[in-house]
Amino acid sequence: MDFSVNHQALAYLLSAILFILGLKGLTHPATARRGNLYAMLGMLIAIAATLLGREVQSYGFIIAGIAGGAVIGTIVAMRIQMTAMPQLVAALHSFVGLAAVLVGIGTFLHYRDAGLLNAVLMGEISAGVVIGAITFTGSIIAFGKLQGLLSGAPVKFKGQHLLNALIGLATVTLAVHFAMTGSLVSLILMTLLAFTLGVTLIIPIGGADMPVIISMLNSYSGWAAAATGFTLHNNLLIIVGALVGCSGAILSYIMCKAMNRSILNVVFGGFGSDSGAAGESAGAQAAEKGVKSAAIEDAVYWMEDAGKVIIVPGYGMAVAQAQHSLKELMELLMARGVEVKFAIHPVAGRMPGHMNVLLAEADIPYDQVLEMDEINPEFPSADVVLVVGANDVVNPAAKEDKTSPIYGMPILEAGRARQVYFLKRSMRPGYSGVDNLLFYQDNTYLVFGDAKDTIDGMNSALKGGGH
Ligand code: NDP
Repeated sequence: MDFSVNHQALAYLLSAILFILGLKGLTHPATARRGNLYAMLGMLIAIAATLLGREVQSYGFIIAGIAGGAVIGTIVAMRIQMTAMPQLVAALHSFVGLAAVLVGIGTFLHYRDAGLLNAVLMGEISAGVVIGAITFTGSIIAFGKLQGLLSGAPVKFKGQHLLNALIGLATVTLAVHFAMTGSLVSLILMTLLAFTLGVTLIIPIGGADMPVIISMLNSYSGWAAAATGFTLHNNLLIIVGALVGCSGAILSYIMCKAMNRSILNVVFGGFGSDSGAAGESAGAQAAEKGVKSAAIEDAVYWMEDAGKVIIVPGYGMAVAQAQHSLKELMELLMARGVEVKFAIHPVAGRMPGHMNVLLAEADIPYDQVLEMDEINPEFPSADVVLVVGANDVVNPAAKEDKTSPIYGMPILEAGRARQVYFLKRSMRPGYSGVDNLLFYQDNTYLVFGDAKDTIDGMNSALKGGGH
């Protein structure tokens, strides 16, 4: 059968519908797997329809590229740790950005040689190349910070915002000049300046704010792809680019809202620091104030006779990979008639849905996993709250201390339970670098140690019939 333009358009329509169903599926943990399958199927159809299209002149390079990419992708996907997911996403965005730059420049050279340049096309190329170049270098910096190759601390200097504004202005001026004249020199200078802007925009951002920035760069990569879609006259790329662009922007907004910060504050605030020194001084302060520590057996003693235990997982659970041990703890407690629930803060961990993914991986039933608004009224009726490597998301400073950088962030009200046990390794603060007021509350105890080791210890105590 001859694969006509109409067939391709129909296949693209089907792909677009599958991508939208995929996004819809990803809005809930119970449907996320199905959503992923829809999106994968959509991508398969899209690739097949594109390869069958008439614009493809030879398959050699394409097949070599797909084969190489598939091998690398499979190896990376099999090896990647859940905690390293944000930097992997950053690395992948950088490829989208670079692809947009290369396609833009390639298209320009092709149309120039064919004598088919026009202002609209060059406007599209400018947009794709500029957004793509910012996404490329910005994502590389984000990757470097998250991977620990670059310092996570904000890099700030005098006149930084002015410098960025000037580079931005010069880039736009060159883009307009290029669109009007088709000057190769303007195209190259514009690209170089946009590469620079990607670096200068991202270096002032604190390492831990990177996930918000990554979702912002995700949005940029979508817009770069959409602009490339216009350049290549590919409707599906325009649709997919717009979907990615919008969902990335919405995600950035949701994350900022959950942290009670504006996107401008994230981009220009220079919030967050490298944990080291700040953490130690907070730890020293805390020790002076007399925080109570407890043994594993103390926590088990109160939990096994409790009516209700609420578990608050945080970034430390991801670091310790304690989700499977937590599942066992949940089962052991439930076998004793204890009601067990999990409380999820929207920004717990280091990426949206981080905790949901890990709990789902351990097969913890969704109906026991509650979002912040649902679980907050239940804390006063909980006998024990077990805070597993979470910190900022339960810090009452967000409600009580107007001078705190996290003031205004909605929190899980763990402190309202009868007893609170924190599982963490030290007195170091969480991502915000802010001391946790809950540590000093009368009903709070800290059980020091790696969260997985501590929970395994609890499980052995429960299995051994207690103490
Ligand atoms: P926090 O970063 O506040 O705290 C994590 C805690 O885990 C630390 O206090 C640390 O203490 C402990 N920890 C680390 N490793 C281990 C381990 N192996 N065993 C036990 N404990 C461990 O995490 P939260 O989840 O409470 O809050 C997330 C923070 O990240 C929020 O401030 C949020 O705004 C921010 N953020 C979240 C994003 C998201 O999308 N989810 C995006 C950007 C920022 P210790 O070192 O003493 O063990």
